[in-house]
Amino acid sequence: KVLLRFAPSPTGALHLGGLRTALYNHLFAKKHGGEWILRIEDTDAARTVPGAVERIREALEWAGLEYDYGPGKGGPHAPYVQSERLDLYHSYAQKLLDSGHAYRCFCSPNRLAETRERLARSGSYSTYDKACLHLTEEEVARRVRAGEKSVIRMNDGHLPSRSTPPDLVFGPLKDSHASLPTDPVLLKSDLFPTYHLASVVDDHEMGITQVVRGEEWLPSLSLHLDLYASLSLTPPQFAHLPILLNPDGTKMSKRKGDVDVLDFKRRGWEPIAILNWLALAGWGIPQEDAQAPSSGEAKQAPDSTTLMSLEQMIKEFELSSLTHRRTVLDPVKLQYLNKHHLIKSMTTDDGLLALAEKVRDIVKEAQYTSAPYIKDVIVALQGRLTNLHELPILAPYFFVDPDWASDEAHDMSEGLSSVQYVVSKLKERLATETSIWSALDLSNIVREEVRKTGFPSKQCMMILRHALSGMKTGPGVGDILRVLGRDRAIARLANAQP
Ligand code: GLU
Repeated sequence: KVLLRFAPSPTGALHLGGLRTALYNHLFAKKHGGEWILRIEDTDAARTVPGAVERIREALEWAGLEYDYGPGKGGPHAPYVQSERLDLYHSYAQKLLDSGHAYRCFCSPNRLAETRERLARSGSYSTYDKACLHLTEEEVARRVRAGEKSVIRMNDGHLPSRSTPPDLVFGPLKDSHASLPTDPVLLKSDLFPTYHLASVVDDHEMGITQVVRGEEWLPSLSLHLDLYASLSLTPPQFAHLPILLNPDGTKMSKRKGDVDVLDFKRRGWEPIAILNWLALAGWGIPQEDAQAPSSGEAKQAPDSTTLMSLEQMIKEFELSSLTHRRTVLDPVKLQYLNKHHLIKSMTTDDGLLALAEKVRDIVKEAQYTSAPYIKDVIVALQGRLTNLHELPILAPYFFVDPDWASDEAHDMSEGLSSVQYVVSKLKERLATETSIWSALDLSNIVREEVRKTGFPSKQCMMILRHALSGMKTGPGVGDILRVLGRDRAIARLANAQP
């Protein structure tokens, strides 16, 4: 059975890249009937931000990605917060000391900085001169007893031989020791492990079968494999996810803004559209096709805008069909996906009810009084809404009377002396209709009345829409009438007469 983990550091908000990693962990785990853990990697005390864990959990919950074990849930390897597991890392560090794969280093930060500079000046790739590797056991024991601060370093000179397992996304890889520091620190002087030691120990202890994480950790893979080998442990499989780019080709990072998942929540995006967007970025789609439609909305859905539910994503997901090339995350595609997920949600009662609940809050936020016919409003605007937040801007007239005194209204009535005539004809006709409002074929009634006036139909429709809504564009006149209801519709036509 597979067991995966999503292991964010609580250094701030969960960003889109992190959510993609969580999603791919979820998809892989569920596809193979397995589970996943949320593990909090808070071993860098200086970078830990209060409240970040809560925000990460809120973002995952909003997205609908439910972990099986982790903070708030427990599980067989709890606690799932690294700062609460320090003893475990100490015992592994001790094992490495005992076997000579690691050693204690007492060098001061000053000495380390000087050494690094000296080595760099001499053209060396090393970042440390291994001075402490040569301390005698007695000396080390004495200095520890005396309370001197020390770190524990990997001993690069004593690495067991091992093979490089292939990465599930990147394929066979070469070792990358050259990009790592010399004898990397495993345990810091504050007795916290570095990411490398903690991650390897936890992945082993928790029984992780596949590590799915961002490409930025690829350079650390050699060190992690060295640690597994030094501890005589079998490593899990690894899959590194390609770096996400902004449409302009720059790296998408948490510092650039606009990537906080909770901001997408606040701005009204559908969580399933976000997941769909992230899932398809780089999923079996050649980079050429993944380019953004340069402007406007994509008329036809390209591959990377195939509408999928979470269940479908799970079913279709293959790590092997992920590209390892850098991938553009294009906001235009999110708009497309969001619009179409909205349309899809409107087709079921549950979906529509959920949308109505959201819209009720959005309408309130826009300072309008909510109306009982929210669901009808949503359906009337089907295909016009990219994001639910646009609803009060696109169609305020369902919540407040239009402003007929506006300049726009004035422009509309100018040049057509017949405005009053068209509007009053429809009003009179509607007043004679006595059947249940919802049973009336309102669009047809409107068409008939317009035809009878003998004026150009397009212009009449615009006038009528404007009389009812105060706007030039929007749903069909019949649809607006239907949503407004008999009394409101007739009152509006009456009031709109110049
Ligand atoms: N704690 C790391 C991060 O925040 C996760 C690395 C990993 O998944 O191994 O990105």
